[in-house]
Amino acid sequence: MSDAVLAVDIGGTKTAVALVDRAGRVIDSARAATPALEGPGAVIDTVRRLALALIERADATPAVRGVGVATAGVVDAESGVIVSSTDTMADWAGTQVTSRVRVALSDVLPPGGLVHVQNDADAHAAGEHRYGAAVGASSVLVVAVGTGVGAGIIVDGRILRGARHVAGEIAHVPTPGAQHLLCPCGRAGHLEAIGSGVGLHRHYLAIGGDPAARDARAVVGRADAGDDVAQRAITESAAAVGRALAAAVTLIDPERVVVTGGVVDIGARWWNPMVDSFRSELIDVLQEVPVVPGALGGHAPLLGAAASAWERAEVSAA
Ligand SMILES: [Zn+2]
Repeated sequence: MSDAVLAVDIGGTKTAVALVDRAGRVIDSARAATPALEGPGAVIDTVRRLALALIERADATPAVRGVGVATAGVVDAESGVIVSSTDTMADWAGTQVTSRVRVALSDVLPPGGLVHVQNDADAHAAGEHRYGAAVGASSVLVVAVGTGVGAGIIVDGRILRGARHVAGEIAHVPTPGAQHLLCPCGRAGHLEAIGSGVGLHRHYLAIGGDPAARDARAVVGRADAGDDVAQRAITESAAAVGRALAAAVTLIDPERVVVTGGVVDIGARWWNPMVDSFRSELIDVLQEVPVVPGALGGHAPLLGAAASAWERAEVSAA
């Protein structure tokens, strides 16, 4: 019988569950569409169904040491309650995720079983810190730039949650260059309005890009084909991210910065202007702060959920 934790990643579109060993190896995983509009009961049922399927098909029944959950929304990681959430998940705000998962998985967890719930951006940072590009750093800023923008901050080896559970929400940092674009929060000029994949596409359209290009991927295709407006949109979107990172680094002074997510996969035509902008804003003493790509890709939140569950399992065993 091997020890494992169940890692759960609940996103607006899909839910993934994995059995993860102490070394961060995924023993097995399963995923399904998140029934986001059907309410919390249906979401928790999906988690239970995936988890039980994994345990049933394991060669030797694993001893489940705990459950780590990463979820969309602002999360009180102490109580495991969703503080706020967007409309993409119906009635998710207010959900007692810790207690509901504990009940749903009571037949595989020891009595009073360990369940830890956190925001997916924080889980992303925890994953890179324990298993990926931030191993060994006592402080790190981990930023995921994809459909949206999220960040997790680790200081003295611990995730900074904030007084209102919002620490790391870099998406809504006012960012020069974004004033002409509306953020999903309803305010103009925030980082996510220009720096996310959606923002990059909107910026392309705002500076005269071809409306036939339907998304960020299409804009990248145009840039590859020599479209100057597309390249300018990518450069300016990346530079905005670099500026916001410089602001965050100036406040936190982390040992290292990890930048990851689907937009980073654009490659050098995004990464280079992002780093150039970042360096140009930083004071001399911060010039040496390393900026590195993430090592775990899309698995990072799942592995971070596992990492947080393992950390608590080890504390409770000590
Ligand atoms: Zn905003």
